[in-house]
Amino acid sequence: MTHLWLRNYNNDEIRTIHFDTRKEFGGAPSILTRRANLQSELLRFATSPDFPGAPAEIIRGAQVTRVDALVGKVWAEDGRSFEGDLIVGADGINSTTRAAVLDDEVPSNRIKLHDLLCFITRVPIETVQTDKTLKYLATPSSQAGLVTFYLPEQSKSRKRVLIYHTSPHELQVLGYTSEEEFVEKFDSMKTAIIKDIPAERVVNEFATEFSEHIVGLFKHSQIDAWRLRDIDTCETWYRGKCVLIGDAAHAVTPHAGQGCNITIEDAEALAYLLKGARPSDDLAGVLEKFTSLRRERAQFVLRRSREMGNLQSEEEKKLEPISPEKFSMIMHSYQGVEHALKLMESSSNAA
Ligand SMILES: Cc1cc2nc3c(=O)[nH]c(=O)nc-3n(C[C@H](O)[C@H](O)[C@H](O)COP(=O)(O)OP(=O)(O)OC[C@H]3O[C@@H](n4cnc5c(N)ncnc54)[C@H](O)[C@@H]3O)c2cc1C
Repeated sequence: MTHLWLRNYNNDEIRTIHFDTRKEFGGAPSILTRRANLQSELLRFATSPDFPGAPAEIIRGAQVTRVDALVGKVWAEDGRSFEGDLIVGADGINSTTRAAVLDDEVPSNRIKLHDLLCFITRVPIETVQTDKTLKYLATPSSQAGLVTFYLPEQSKSRKRVLIYHTSPHELQVLGYTSEEEFVEKFDSMKTAIIKDIPAERVVNEFATEFSEHIVGLFKHSQIDAWRLRDIDTCETWYRGKCVLIGDAAHAVTPHAGQGCNITIEDAEALAYLLKGARPSDDLAGVLEKFTSLRRERAQFVLRRSREMGNLQSEEEKKLEPISPEKFSMIMHSYQGVEHALKLMESSSNAA
């Protein structure tokens, strides 16, 4: 990713930022990709014999319905059960594991709705190559990135449109708006994704506020509606032989584009802290250290995501907003938990 474009509803430039996280912050390069590509690459890393450690065994089709956090055992819908030294609950915002760790009656207890959904569609790169007004998006091999189209500041609307490259051949287009009309369907279907929304419906949603060049991008392929939710970062992330990572512990809305990143950071931190650990070791001590290293950062992302989407509670509105510069610096200068621990150690030595 090389560019961030900030534009208004009419596609007029507000600001263009040359975005090189490696050069500017010393952290990892910033990459845009489709979720499916990332998942298959992570699966390859986990299961390939070419990397250190035993390849992970993947058991498919096991829907976990019960977790005993103290014993370290899970039961699947089909009656099978699995036991281990540690259960890592990476089971997303509806986490069954979280309910067991926090003694919640139902997994959905903590989920917060914000009257917001996101229409998502994909657009072939040729579409922007033939539209002069969108030419800046037409050459991802030399400039790839993300453009956000904003409504005027005085507008009370939470509508926003985003476009970003997901490969040299394709863009993803997102439109945020109220979920009002879809609430009943989301609830009755017990789903967070409604597929195949008619293009005309989506175009009408944005056509009065955004230029036709932007809105027209919703006419090219299937559009799905995603319900946007988050949870307040959990107070505790572990119990007995069970620990939560990712959305299970700290689901955020996608406004800051960091939910998946902090999930991967969690996994890296946990793996680092558990390296060489034995079942007889002080597991609670390790999991407490893990939580204390990760919780504040997850909360920081939650706060910034809510600020970006105007989704703060009355209490959160009283806090000093996090500046984009501070957020970028803290997120993009991260170099893994070993580095974070060294920084903490040197700052406590200096104090
Ligand atoms: C519209 C949208 C856009 C986003 N954009 C970005 C972005 O640009 N950048 C970014 O960093 N993040 C983004 N995110 C956030 C990101 O998708 C999540 O933070 C990330 O997927 C969390 O990973 P996870 O592994 O914790 O949970 P998930 O990805 O939800 O994975 C949980 C897994 O657990 C499985 N599971 C759940 N319950 C059970 C059970 N009982 N038994 C067995 N399996 C179970 C699920 O099937 C799933 O495979 C976006 C999210 C949304 C909704």
